[in-house]
Amino acid sequence: MDINLSGKRALITGAGKGIGREIAVVLTECGAEVVALSRTQADLDSLRAEIACQTIRADLTNADDARRAAEEASEIDLLVNNAGISILQPFLETTVEVFDEVLAVNVRAVLIISQVIARGMIARGDGGAIVNLSSTASSVALRDHTSYCTSKGALDQLTRIMALELGPHQIRVNSINPTVTLTPMGEMAWGDPAKSRPMLARIPLERFAKPRQVAEAVAYLLSDHADMIHGAILPVDGGFWIT
Ligand code: NAP
Repeated sequence: MDINLSGKRALITGAGKGIGREIAVVLTECGAEVVALSRTQADLDSLRAEIACQTIRADLTNADDARRAAEEASEIDLLVNNAGISILQPFLETTVEVFDEVLAVNVRAVLIISQVIARGMIARGDGGAIVNLSSTASSVALRDHTSYCTSKGALDQLTRIMALELGPHQIRVNSINPTVTLTPMGEMAWGDPAKSRPMLARIPLERFAKPRQVAEAVAYLLSDHADMIHGAILPVDGGFWIT
């Protein structure tokens, strides 16, 4: 089964590093025309040199910048809401500033960008596909992850609402929920073996995810092979959620 996305234009947020960058590479390999959105210009420059994509620099903590960037992306068939941040604080020390920042990137920007892109899809009448990058953290409690777990729980609900209301327009919306994935974010949160050992022990496959494994699941959900998959919250977690 080959995944062929040729003729499709795909917007990926947070494409500068980690999972988003791998998604940009995989979707390019599948023939899609990639529009990469991220915050650090140097990351976008090196990605453009690697895969010849269009790039848009934006800071998704800012609602106006998120809207401007989505409008700049223009006509999009496939959207991957991947950009996300995690700032670790114990519950009692979680600040309003950090809570607001994490929710702004991980949830509010998804709402804003998806509204702009979905309106365009509806106006063109050709449907489309959206994948939101959530996490297994959406439905388990992780120490020091108050803002992050809250944001991903909210994102799963946003995915369901989007699927409900965009489905009649033939816009499929799904979520990918990885376990710890070996990216800059994964290293930051789980790089300490004292933290990673107990987490690994809860994963039946006894390994963390690689960005490529997450990116290939995203490509599948965006493709016509997943034409009847809609509103799914799909773990890419080595079985973590069943434990
Ligand atoms: P990462 O390595 O930290 O990369 C995140 C990318 O998003 C970076 O290019 C970053 O750009 C960009 N980004 C962050 N905030 C932004 C903002 N305000 N505006 C524009 N771009 C922004 O993260 P990752 O591990 O690849 O995670 C990608 C997604 O997967 C996230 O939604 C994350 O929650 C989810 N996830 C990750 C893991 C994991 O263990 N890694 C597990 C489950 C789910 P800058 O570096 O320039 O800020």
